[in-house]
Amino acid sequence: MTPAAIAAASLPCPTILPGAVLGVMGGGQLGAMFAMAAKRMGYRVEAISESEDCPAAQHADRVHVGAFDDAHKLEQISRALDVLTFEFENMPVEAARAMQKAVPVRPDPLVLFTTQDRAREKAFLLEHDFGCAPHCVVRSRAELHAAVAALGLPAVLKTAAFGYDGKGQRKIDDASAIDPAWDALGPEACVLEGWIDFDCEISVVAARGMDGETAVFEPSRNEHRHHVLDVASAPAGLPRPVLDAARDTASRILDKLGFVGVACVEFFVARDGTVLVNEIAPRPHNSGHLTIQACETSQFEQQVRAVCGLPLGSTRQLSPAAMANLLGDCWAGGEPDWPAALAVPGVSLMLYGKSEPRPGRKMGHLTALAPTVEEAIANVTRARALACRTAAR
Ligand code: AMP
Repeated sequence: MTPAAIAAASLPCPTILPGAVLGVMGGGQLGAMFAMAAKRMGYRVEAISESEDCPAAQHADRVHVGAFDDAHKLEQISRALDVLTFEFENMPVEAARAMQKAVPVRPDPLVLFTTQDRAREKAFLLEHDFGCAPHCVVRSRAELHAAVAALGLPAVLKTAAFGYDGKGQRKIDDASAIDPAWDALGPEACVLEGWIDFDCEISVVAARGMDGETAVFEPSRNEHRHHVLDVASAPAGLPRPVLDAARDTASRILDKLGFVGVACVEFFVARDGTVLVNEIAPRPHNSGHLTIQACETSQFEQQVRAVCGLPLGSTRQLSPAAMANLLGDCWAGGEPDWPAALAVPGVSLMLYGKSEPRPGRKMGHLTALAPTVEEAIANVTRARALACRTAAR
């Protein structure tokens, strides 16, 4: 334990106070924004990343470069930390458990075990009566054919493990697409999901503290392009009962998981207003970036508060807001026109410091605040079109 932790240990509640060392597993943009929030509050931050040149390196006090499955090295790194949290959940659970011998790990590795595998996550949701898409776990071509017969088409086949942003997914529209989908994704265990003809997609970022208190942000409405989040906006413009159902579901999911930290629950909103859980991310989320400008507490400050045992901050939204992702494609015509984007009222820019703007790579985002969410969406998409010299979409 560091001196700050020893001082805190004498308090009745094991609060981790400013001055302590917060570890974050992963060095991507979520880790960078966590580090910015933690540094602002007086903490030291050490990120663990597979590459030295990662976004978190620009904000953390130290980056440990190492493999996420090197349990021995990770345990050693943990000895210098006061708490460990995640910006990236797809690490071996055994390695997270090894770290737990040396440092409190929040959320508990058991949460990673549940959420990093779609089959286990769906089993958890069903066990606790949380609505989700009809689905079957499939482990062979024959099981896939049987699942299609049971669920009907269209459907979507997803690898059970390590999928995100639509990676490891194949939509099956008709019978001729069944075998090619299995050829592409099998023989890994997969989940076949019935296709949901949804009205829209929303997500809820929520925090749960060590005392079980939860704080839930307003849902954001999410538009995807090629399975990747494109624009998130809040308020989501849905009837209050629908929004409350999503917020309540997210809060109860965190309770049932015994979660400590910040998580995001993504939902499909069906045409009748029912909310169905799509997936759970056990960390801050791309759709929550607008909380940085729009809310009393950002999702990243909330993560710091939750894992340190501090009171959770208010999630009150101070202004309608919209966020547009900046993918590497925006650099296709050279350096984007940032002055043009930033001339749009209420727009701010966040770049993640990645050197190589590959197509599809998340390089940064723009956020717009405006008197109405419609204006925020219009302004952020216009700013992005000006920056990337493309037609607004
Ligand atoms: P995922 O990685 O599972 O979140 O999927 C990425 C995106 O694909 C989702 O945000 C949806 O837009 C779409 N999608 C995934 N599963 C389904 C489904 N069962 N029905 C309709 N759309 C889906």
